[in-house]
Amino acid sequence: MPRSNHRDYLRRVRKAAEDPQLRRAMNRAAESYSAARAEGLASVDFDALSQQVRAIKERAIEHLPALIARFRQEAEGVGACVYEAKTAEDARRYIVDLARRQGVTLAVKSKSMATEEIGLNPALEAAGVRSVETDLGEWVVQLAGERPSHMVSPAIHKTREEVAELLSRVTGRHIDPDIPSLVKVARAELRRCFVEAQMGITGANIAIAETGTLVLVTNEGNGRLASSLPPIHVAVVGIEKLVRSLDDAVPILKILARNSTGQTLTSYTTFITGPSRTSDIEKTPVLGVHGPQQLHIVLLDNGRGALRNDPEFRESLYCIRCGACMYLCPAFQVVAGHLFGHIYTGAIGTVLTAWHHGIENAKEPLGLCHGCRYCVDVCPSRIDTPRMVLRLRERIVENEGLPLANSAALRGVVRRPERLRA
Ligand code: SF4
Repeated sequence: MPRSNHRDYLRRVRKAAEDPQLRRAMNRAAESYSAARAEGLASVDFDALSQQVRAIKERAIEHLPALIARFRQEAEGVGACVYEAKTAEDARRYIVDLARRQGVTLAVKSKSMATEEIGLNPALEAAGVRSVETDLGEWVVQLAGERPSHMVSPAIHKTREEVAELLSRVTGRHIDPDIPSLVKVARAELRRCFVEAQMGITGANIAIAETGTLVLVTNEGNGRLASSLPPIHVAVVGIEKLVRSLDDAVPILKILARNSTGQTLTSYTTFITGPSRTSDIEKTPVLGVHGPQQLHIVLLDNGRGALRNDPEFRESLYCIRCGACMYLCPAFQVVAGHLFGHIYTGAIGTVLTAWHHGIENAKEPLGLCHGCRYCVDVCPSRIDTPRMVLRLRERIVENEGLPLANSAALRGVVRRPERLRA
């Protein structure tokens, strides 16, 4: 990393730390989240459940090749097409070729970090396919020409006032900075897209090998619409999302919403096993009734195989993307995800970045972790992210002899991180 880039990064960190709008947005989100999480976890034994989740993820990653083979066999058995993408480019090519072959001009997307990871939207747009984000936060950042700053709350860095200004500009009419009114705008503007799109694109929170099932955990309803209204459903799924059985999926579901949004379960927990089908006439099976006729599942490696083979970093694959570690990270609170991360954000995001997007993109954000270990306390998979951050820094220094000292930029900014503890 050239010295001038490093200086520019530090300048942007200081600027973010002094940005009153960002401060307001992050403080509002942290307060709401901490209260909701405490309430959500009150009805479970977090320690016992997180030990269970950790064991499930350890077992799944240990047996990953067998789970991939089983998932493929089961999903294809119920009529899905499964494509194993070694790289982001493989995944993009498969989806763009499919869109071209099927004459797709409009795609609707529900929130998916895997599609962000592979840069799917620009690839589709370059192929003449309009790709519309339908999760409210994702739609906001798409309209703003930005990228998500948090894996669960993509627009966490924006205040309601900023969102109202943006939507007023896009719709050409004044919209009050009142959150229910902003939500209504999204509903009105996006509804037509769901009906007109020829392709719906989602991720998946869990993939169950034993049945070839995708599990989507959502709140807004856009995930259901995107995966059921268009005639083609494409799901991009990181291979670390695989678990052996429905029994293994349950503890993850039990803790995911509680730790992520404070809900017992999200509004919609959707299980998808193959395309839409009927056997109502003469018991003859036909695909594509009211839901999609085609289901394409892209199983994405893109560095995950290498992570699995690296004992010092394997545990990063146990992440269930709840986002808790970011909401409660003192450094993330100060600068948010556009500086603390690349596509994946926060401390865990910088570790993943090194494998998915290259060490160059992880170097500067790595320096923002100052090892407070709050992220370990709140992690449902008990991932020791600070250990991996430290080890990654050591590897960089071993290879390049360059010290990383960005944490100095936050010294004096994060004076009392303990007050952010949930
Ligand atoms: S590292 Fe842990 S706390 Fe952070 S997003 Fe992943 S599972 Fe959640």
